Amino acid sequence: MSRTCPKCGHVSKDIRRTQAHFCCTNCGYTANADENAAGNILRAGLARLAQEVNSKRSQHCEPSEVEQ
Ligand SMILES: [Zn+2]
Repeated sequence: MSRTCPKCGHVSKDIRRTQAHFCCTNCGYTANADENAAGNILRAGLARLAQEVNSKRSQHCEPSEVEQ
């Protein structure tokens, strides 16, 4: 779970994992912790997918040795 406020960027050290809602102690921004985590997972998944695509492309781009 991210402790960084998506609105002001304030990093709170008071947020507990069991807390249902993200609450920024700086600007008062509140968000559902599940939605916040889902966004992080989505971004992580897209990043991993992009890496897999790049790795496959690099494999295809590698010159194949001619077998005779
Ligand atoms: Zn904030």
